[in-house]
Amino acid sequence: MKEKMIEKIVQQVIAKLNNDSTDLTSDGPIPIAVSARHIHLQKEHVEILFGKGYELTKKLDLSQPGQFAANETLMIAGPKGSIERVRILGPVRPASQVEVSLTDAFKLGVKPPLRESGDINGSSPITLIGPKGTVYLQEGLIIAQAHIHMNFKEASVLQVEDGQYVNIAINSERPMTFNHVKIRVSERFRLEMHVDTDEANAAFISKGTIGKIITSAVTARPIKTQSVETMAHETTKPSIEKYDKKLLSREDMEKIEANMIHISKQTIVTALAYDYAREKKKQIKIV
Ligand SMILES: [Zn+2]
Repeated sequence: MKEKMIEKIVQQVIAKLNNDSTDLTSDGPIPIAVSARHIHLQKEHVEILFGKGYELTKKLDLSQPGQFAANETLMIAGPKGSIERVRILGPVRPASQVEVSLTDAFKLGVKPPLRESGDINGSSPITLIGPKGTVYLQEGLIIAQAHIHMNFKEASVLQVEDGQYVNIAINSERPMTFNHVKIRVSERFRLEMHVDTDEANAAFISKGTIGKIITSAVTARPIKTQSVETMAHETTKPSIEKYDKKLLSREDMEKIEANMIHISKQTIVTALAYDYAREKKKQIKIV
């Protein structure tokens, strides 16, 4: 009896540490946040735009851990027009990137592709104008694809995996369904769907609007943007192993050969075990 109680307390503490939303079920609810147009900068560009040795200063923390809105803004310009005071988000990244809505793109006179953040190969050019200098990006302007951030625990409750596409029903005054929303899983993330201002306006999304997963079928994946690598990955059928001990550690993970590990709700999974799973592209699923 005493042992049972201790086990329960340990589970509650771990759940707390993992920042679990206790009311989360397999279809949600998924909180939604609206990403306004913004800029990510590489270090060299910060110095060109704001002066040698300059570092971005924090205005406020964003919901995803470590990300922040900077006090600094820039003007962005395209062939047809410009937009002033576009917010820079920190910290600095390996490559500068600008995310705008399609409405913004019309104003700028460019036709950026719909992409996942960070995927800027062959995207549209854009000029960044700062107080101390100007940077012309040959590529880097995109329209961000709607996506959902979450950690591994949330992914297992929602029964989705990193890179998967789902359909999301938006419960608002003007209800809509967003198809083809990409799942992005990382231990650093916290559950939140990100849409741009055009999407938010279309569906009357405001503070507190939530979404629900209505399909997580493999057919929701786009054929077009699928790389050869992910296709090869999918054709290998995952082997499944049932794991029913109380604790799943990294050491235990190293001994398991299967790609899919089924655990019960009672099993406690360590953060290192989740890290290892991600590293080895293995999936831990609560069944
Ligand atoms: Zn995001």
